[in-house]
Amino acid sequence: MEWLGLQLFAELPAHGQVVLDCHHNPFLVVLAYVVAGAACFATLDMADRQIHSEEPRARRQWKGLGACCLASGIWAMHFISLLAYQPPLEVHYDMTLTALSLFIALIAAWLAMNQLDRLHMQPRHYLQAALAIGLGIGVMHYVGMAALQSSARQYYQTPLVVASLGIAVVTSLVAVWVTRYLGSGSGTRHLAMKYGAALIMAAGIVFTHYTGMAALSLVIAEGAPAQLPSADNSLQLGLSIGFITLLISASSISAALADKKLQSKEHDLRRVNVLLSQLDQARVSLQQAAHYDALTNLVNRRGFNQVFAERLAEHAVTESLLAVMFLDIDHFKRINDSLGHAAGDELLKVIAAHIRAATRSQDLVARFGGDEFCIVTSLHNRDEARKLGQRIMQRMKEPIDLGGRRMVMTTSIGISIFPDDGRSAEELLKNADLALYQSKDGGRNNLNFFNSSLKTRATLELQLEEELRVALLEERGLCVYYQPIFDLHDARVAKLEALVRWHHPQQGLIGPDRFIAIAEANGLIAELDQWVLQRACRDLADLTRRGYGHLKVTVNCSAVTLGREELASDVEMALLQAGLAARQLELEVTENALMGDIHRTINLLKRIRGQGVGLSIDDFGTGYSSLAYLKRLPLDVLKIDRSFIQDVPGSQQDREIVQAILIMAHTLHLQVVTEGVETDEQLAFLATQGCDFAQGFLLSRPVALSELPAVLERLDRMDSTVMGECETARPGLQGRPADAPGRRAGASIARRGR
Ligand code: C2E
Ligand code: CA
Ligand code: CA
Repeated sequence: MEWLGLQLFAELPAHGQVVLDCHHNPFLVVLAYVVAGAACFATLDMADRQIHSEEPRARRQWKGLGACCLASGIWAMHFISLLAYQPPLEVHYDMTLTALSLFIALIAAWLAMNQLDRLHMQPRHYLQAALAIGLGIGVMHYVGMAALQSSARQYYQTPLVVASLGIAVVTSLVAVWVTRYLGSGSGTRHLAMKYGAALIMAAGIVFTHYTGMAALSLVIAEGAPAQLPSADNSLQLGLSIGFITLLISASSISAALADKKLQSKEHDLRRVNVLLSQLDQARVSLQQAAHYDALTNLVNRRGFNQVFAERLAEHAVTESLLAVMFLDIDHFKRINDSLGHAAGDELLKVIAAHIRAATRSQDLVARFGGDEFCIVTSLHNRDEARKLGQRIMQRMKEPIDLGGRRMVMTTSIGISIFPDDGRSAEELLKNADLALYQSKDGGRNNLNFFNSSLKTRATLELQLEEELRVALLEERGLCVYYQPIFDLHDARVAKLEALVRWHHPQQGLIGPDRFIAIAEANGLIAELDQWVLQRACRDLADLTRRGYGHLKVTVNCSAVTLGREELASDVEMALLQAGLAARQLELEVTENALMGDIHRTINLLKRIRGQGVGLSIDDFGTGYSSLAYLKRLPLDVLKIDRSFIQDVPGSQQDREIVQAILIMAHTLHLQVVTEGVETDEQLAFLATQGCDFAQGFLLSRPVALSELPAVLERLDRMDSTVMGECETARPGLQGRPADAPGRRAGASIARRGR
């Protein structure tokens, strides 16, 4: 087959002579290999840039440059190799074919670079690419050979031609795969691999060429003389082409290097930017965490301090009014203790929303932790602060559904005003706090403005605390009063409640309401309770010796005292020292005091009850204890809080509540004491409802031990004088049978009052 003057796949002619004396210039052969190697390395570098460029335009540029490098490398290698080939003939090159061969090299190289553009390459893509490029190189080679013109005809041996094409295809396959493989990576190892790959690829290309050359036989006409070329400038030509190609490769490599550096700088810059923005976000969330309360999203104390300082500075310039309001949710602890912290948190969120809704957007609303809130608001007059406080209190009264219950919360508020009540943040906050305490003392659900007398009161409390400490230490001034508890079934005094009093050197007799809270806040309460317990036991032992052996004494026990394991042994000691029987003592604990660590409390109460001491739950109805909760406690007596009997018998609702508590308590086998009985009607009502005991001013106020015999005598005498009259019970009373003792007692006392 003749193609472009080449005899491909053809037998040698029968006539003519084969030019045998062909040899290669070894220097140019080496140069060809070096040029190919350099071009391959440059191409790998371009491919690397192409793969890593993000902009399409840059990709196209690197692709073009890579194709040029590869094409010039292959072609230069081919051409230098041709120049190295030195047959004993006059040789010259056809320009058109030479240019065509360069063009074919370019197309093959372009194809190669194009394949690398794919995101994912399947095996068939590798194969297609290898075939296109390998055959391209082959075609370039043979077109280049056709450009070589001499007096000889070129004959090619089929097996070696096929082998040269095969080598070209395999080399291309390896080249494409290596380029893809080396596309990602960096470091010395990667560079070494790239050098190796470039040398192997170059070897493949060189090998393709020389296999093609090995297939060649130059045949000249028989008898024609083999002449040496007249002037051989192939060395200079080869050097020039080699130099140009190396220059192209070198400049491409430096361009790639520069680009790589630039890109990595850009990359670093981007990373720095990303890091900076992440840092910024972290700072913002840190700021959020540092200045905001996570639960309610209100400003926390730290955030508050900052904004409050700014507001104060502004108002210091204008001297306009600014209110600081302290809010404390009444009895919030009970919710936490009885319904759990999760419910408490839920409640706080609702409360925070209520407060926000009642305030204006420019008001500063903060949560100081727990159930304490603080509001700072600008005013025109003091009354605006009162109105805002009332608005909040009103909103707070809206029923809240929580844990399957519907509850109404109330709040206590204390207000201080800038500049009247202070100019510094500390002073204003302290004074608002004092006003808040006054609201709490005044029965809560209350609002108070600071006034200077509060300051004196705070100082007085501090003094009182000191004096109480001394009084306890020196056992001076403290004493116990006793209030009779009347048995409605037996119509006589059955128990005495021990209530502490203090003969203050300056203030005279003061009640527990003035100092129990102070003692509780300062850790004095356990000592105080223990002192009352011992004194009450001694006093009852004294009364027993004087003929009142049927009496019991009940002693109040605060939450702090109940938290002490020593309580059981303290009780035992007090009984022992007084020589009193355990059944003559009863401890009163409030619902709140029971709420702490319930398992531990139950164990402690069981130990105390195990000694024979009675236990009663005080102020029942003011906490949140459920029936199920009460059932678990080792109790004997339930004391209905004064607030339930206050409006009886007038209020039907309260009547029903008392009736319900009585039924419930009796179902749980608890006896019931009703406290705060002040009228005959209340007593009559309780008697008819089957209440077991009554306690209140109607019967007797708490009195000193010395006055007690007279009171007891009066109550007993009164009973015996009136008892006879009340045998005929009032027909309107219902509940117990006519001859039941409770009925009689209720009637008897009721009549006594008339
Ligand atoms: P409490 O245990 O509920 O005691 C009953 C309080 O109600 C007593 O007040 C009593 O004087 C008062 N009271 C009784 N009957 C009536 C009535 O008909 N009408 C009115 N308005 N009030 C009545 P007191 O003695 O001022 O004690 C107040 C609280 O101080 C007690 O409430 C108790 O919680 C506490 N307390 C008293 N003594 C002690 C003590 O030794 N230790 C502890 N931890 N707390 C004590
Ligand atoms: Ca009590
Ligand atoms: Ca009580």
